[in-house]
Amino acid sequence: MGVPPTSSLLGLDRGEITALVSEAGEPSYRAKQIMDAVYRQRAETLAEISTLPQEFRERLAQSGVTTGAARIEKKFVSVDGTVRYLIAFADGQSVETVWMPEGDGGEAGDGSEAGAEAESSGPGTSGAKVPSAENEPIAALKRCATQNRAPQDERRQAHGRSTICISSQVGCAVDCQFCLTALLGVKRNLTAGEIVGQVCAVLKDQKVSPPDDRINLVFMGMGEPLLNYENFVKAARLLVEAVGIAERRMTVSTAGIVPRIRDFGGEAIRPKLAISLNASNDALRTRLMPVNKKWTLEMLMAAAREFPLRTREWITFEYVLLGGVNDTPENAREAAELLRGMRCKVNLIALNPGPGIDFTTPDAERVAVFQKILREAGIPAFVRRPRGRDIYAACGQLKRTVEVSTSPELQIQSISLSPTPEV
Ligand code: SAH
Repeated sequence: MGVPPTSSLLGLDRGEITALVSEAGEPSYRAKQIMDAVYRQRAETLAEISTLPQEFRERLAQSGVTTGAARIEKKFVSVDGTVRYLIAFADGQSVETVWMPEGDGGEAGDGSEAGAEAESSGPGTSGAKVPSAENEPIAALKRCATQNRAPQDERRQAHGRSTICISSQVGCAVDCQFCLTALLGVKRNLTAGEIVGQVCAVLKDQKVSPPDDRINLVFMGMGEPLLNYENFVKAARLLVEAVGIAERRMTVSTAGIVPRIRDFGGEAIRPKLAISLNASNDALRTRLMPVNKKWTLEMLMAAAREFPLRTREWITFEYVLLGGVNDTPENAREAAELLRGMRCKVNLIALNPGPGIDFTTPDAERVAVFQKILREAGIPAFVRRPRGRDIYAACGQLKRTVEVSTSPELQIQSISLSPTPEV
């Protein structure tokens, strides 16, 4: 019956679903029913799509069509509320997806308080100007009053600061020396359906739904999104158009795949851009991120400077601080020089440690000095609070740790290794 290359509904856009419906000889409104069921109700099986006639559902099933819904295989909950999901796909491969709940003060993935930034006018050199969590109940009550909604509805809606961190590949090929995911190598790209499927699975599990609940999305999990470009871009489009997540609440982070950064700037629908800088000169960056051999700092900075920013948009640069390696005052001054005059901000991330990672985490004072130098050079710089380190959910720690969670070398300082599987 003319089923498109994939047999999963998830990952198909409106045009593809329309084609499927028309080839099946069904009326065109069925396309909307399927879109709604898959992306809004997040049906896991065809049987759940009760808007379709039983006979049509059977025909779909017989021709090998499934919803393609992702399956949550394991779930680890951190003391700070962060949840790390292990999400499995049909071929048995799995990735990690992280849920960072509201009110955490700084996990939008780009240093702003999640969700706050879209309403503010952008980063200022005076520091992060974000509404405090304490103001939220008052604001919520005001919204209730104007919208005539019950406070408990509003409480539900106050999931306003939650962020989902999604993966784009199984493993990663980029080989950054400080990142646990790199140790896996790259197994395969995720399809657009598998990328969107992570979001749908987490939204369903957390019982939240955009746009009522303000959801931020960061493509900062396992993998290099710009090395899985077509699927990543299609997924981003589906997340905006079909799932209903606001474009301005999405950020993609790249290790610096320069030609793809340029392509990405030309996309009609695209998340905001974050670039993992992580070093202040070529020698250091090449040592830490081998990708720098191919696309040097000069090439990367040129692409960043030419990136077509929208109104009130800026580029985020992430800088993972490694004790005694890239965190000296001289490094801060060099980094400031690289970024001078750009519409950007910097997120400083003190290394999240892990087994097999031979770097140390600088202390808070050293991080503060680095931040101060950037700020004094006129560059907004924010320090990211690590989330879910105790369950291996923080930046650079996504390695499907369940595989190794019993191994003794994981018992390293500052990591408590007692993940609590819930599922
Ligand atoms: N491949 C993409 C997205 C995934 S990494 C990229 O490189 O940007 C998301 C962020 O986590 C990157 O900024 C990366 O530099 C940072 N990161 C990686 N390992 C880390 C670690 N061990 N501690 C802290 N941050 C880390």
